[in-house]
Amino acid sequence: MSESDDVWKVNRERDGESQRFESNFPEYGPVGRTFAPVAGFGVTLRNFFRPTVTEQYPDKKTPPMPRYHGRHQLNRYADGLEKCIGCELCAWACPADAIYVEADSNTEDAQYSPGERYGRVYQINYLRCIFCGLCIEACPTRALTMTNEYELAGPTREGLIYEKQDLLAPMEDGMLAAPHPMVPGTQDDDYYKGDVTQVVDSQVEWVREHRPEDPTLPENAGAGDEKPASASAPATEAARG
Ligand code: SF4
Ligand code: SF4
Repeated sequence: MSESDDVWKVNRERDGESQRFESNFPEYGPVGRTFAPVAGFGVTLRNFFRPTVTEQYPDKKTPPMPRYHGRHQLNRYADGLEKCIGCELCAWACPADAIYVEADSNTEDAQYSPGERYGRVYQINYLRCIFCGLCIEACPTRALTMTNEYELAGPTREGLIYEKQDLLAPMEDGMLAAPHPMVPGTQDDDYYKGDVTQVVDSQVEWVREHRPEDPTLPENAGAGDEKPASASAPATEAARG
């Protein structure tokens, strides 16, 4: 007699026949007991002819849902100026203390964003980030959004601290890489309200004068294979600001 049979018998004797031993396991008859060891194969057989659901990653990448929270992106205005004003609200909102921002003042010769300030240093530590999106909610200029990029792994801890150049949105057609002046006659408010929709000639002239080799100038478009450093982030965003 096995140990479990002993327990069964002791319980019945102790409680009397009027009280049945409550068990979640059914009592099998001789036939059931014979086939019990192979019953588990029923699950295998049932699934054997169903379609395969195994993801063939990384050979085949399944696109995530459109609102998936992936790598962050620092967006630009239509003329190429950066949306980040270095206010640090995203860093304060972050529950994981994953963001580090240092702001600096825009100058006449180096205007990176509309208004007085821009984010000179911007880092996100992806060893800390929990992709909650609170930083996105906190950003007053929609500078910060999240892309669908989820391949955030690497051999070093340092490599998972993304710098500003890793996070900046890629340059789109018609944009001029910052720094350059704002559209003449506009204030930062005009940028926030979406009134600036394209680069104007005076901005192109300014860049031509200060950075004639800039690859984002119309005449340099397509020259050489090298992209500007600020255009290094891949264009996989889900939520462009
Ligand atoms: S997604 Fe959440 S954890 Fe990640 S940087 Fe933003 S606020 Fe911090
Ligand atoms: S990303 Fe937004 S919240 Fe963060 S420093 Fe820049 S402007 Fe401020």
